[in-house]
Amino acid sequence: MTIKDLKPALVWSIFDQINQVPRPSKKEDKIREWLVKFAQDHNLEYKVDAIGNVAIFRPAAPGLEHVKQVVLQGHMDMVAEKNKESNHNFDTDPIRTIVEGEWLRADGTTLGADDGMGMAGALAAMIDPELKVGPLEAFFTVDEETGLTGASNVGEGMLSGDYLLNLDSEDDGVITMSCAGGVDTIAEFDFKSEAAPAGLEWFEVKFAKMQGGHSGTDICLERGAATKLLCRLLWEVGQKVDFELATIDAGNLRNAIAHDAEAIIGVRPADKEALAVAFNTTSADLKDEYAVAEPTMEITCQSVDAPCCVIEKKVAQAVINTVFVAQHGVVSVSLLIPHFTETSTNLASIKVKDNVIEVVTSQRSAIESRKFDIAHRIEQTFKLGGARVRHTDGYQGWAPKANNHILDIAIREWKNLYGVEPTVEAIHAGLECGLFLKVCPNMDMISYGPTLRDVHSPKERVHIPAVQKFWDFTVAILKAVAAE
Ligand SMILES: [Zn+2]
Repeated sequence: MTIKDLKPALVWSIFDQINQVPRPSKKEDKIREWLVKFAQDHNLEYKVDAIGNVAIFRPAAPGLEHVKQVVLQGHMDMVAEKNKESNHNFDTDPIRTIVEGEWLRADGTTLGADDGMGMAGALAAMIDPELKVGPLEAFFTVDEETGLTGASNVGEGMLSGDYLLNLDSEDDGVITMSCAGGVDTIAEFDFKSEAAPAGLEWFEVKFAKMQGGHSGTDICLERGAATKLLCRLLWEVGQKVDFELATIDAGNLRNAIAHDAEAIIGVRPADKEALAVAFNTTSADLKDEYAVAEPTMEITCQSVDAPCCVIEKKVAQAVINTVFVAQHGVVSVSLLIPHFTETSTNLASIKVKDNVIEVVTSQRSAIESRKFDIAHRIEQTFKLGGARVRHTDGYQGWAPKANNHILDIAIREWKNLYGVEPTVEAIHAGLECGLFLKVCPNMDMISYGPTLRDVHSPKERVHIPAVQKFWDFTVAILKAVAAE
């Protein structure tokens, strides 16, 4: 069994053709040429904008010219990840696929089903001779995976229509109707490095084996942020004992919950006992508080050699104090959608770079004004501590819409096809849909797709039976719109 034997044949054959074309993020030239040729070969109108997005248009079937236009949308780039053993060249080589039971995967690389499967579904709708529906547009963005630059820079006249189907979701039976916007807030504390005072005893305070996780979808799990817990511990210790801070290092990725942290502190020999008591008290409290959320968390305080330098004391204290008071975690939950995180903030990392301590935080919300509200409060918290603060440009969210007609149609058609209610979801992470609202504020949108697993890794795979359901569902939605 190979990809050539799979059904629906049209969708799989287009996916297979797409996978012959290299398309890592920011290197979309070849796939763009292929899309243009696809449009020309099928006598379809197309447009390419300045950033490199491609729109392809299929006119309505005769008699259906009055029907509302539906945009089928995906992204043309893919994440290029491979196993250590693989000698695949993502700039030149086709993706080789393997059927394994009910799943299709690649040979040692990402599969590119994210979002090649969305592209294949959209293109199949553009050329399927059986499909008699209203006007369609297939719209493909560049660089979704590394910067959302395609969706952020949609050219004039590229997106037109009443409904948009974003085909970049990963769970069969789930329809997404809202996503969060995001922005990063970065605080910088300048400090003077000073010679470490003589005669102190030095200790490394360390948090390890914490859960971490995605700063959006996992933020509601009440896991500990190592950044925050380290500064809480140091603040508590500081109430009992005077200490010097030699270095501090916590967290890593801006979009991950920090799962490790460490600091080196020095105390006078006479204060060693008081340090041990303060450390033991607070670390016991933290282990109690996080017994469920962080069952494997380790907090240690171990003797280390004297460092050469320390961080100027008033700056060290300002960093500890501001991270201690800065908010982290869920800020608000939705009253419209049960158990849905509407707004959150993540204390991602604390890093010492030359003579600057940088604290990176990120905020998300489905509501734009709430995203900025929490970003501004974090900004002000760090400014009160004397930091310089900047924000990244960020990206817009996609708020739930009260009368989302395409969502009503999709729910009804899923029930008709499969006899069960689909799961309708809002996600506390980013999708391109929010960015399209800047260009088309009134468009009704949903996002869905066939089941994918382990995307962005060489284990990426697509559930073969879900592709047939994905295609049948897409056809049903287009026919329902045509019948309105
Ligand atoms: Zn994707």
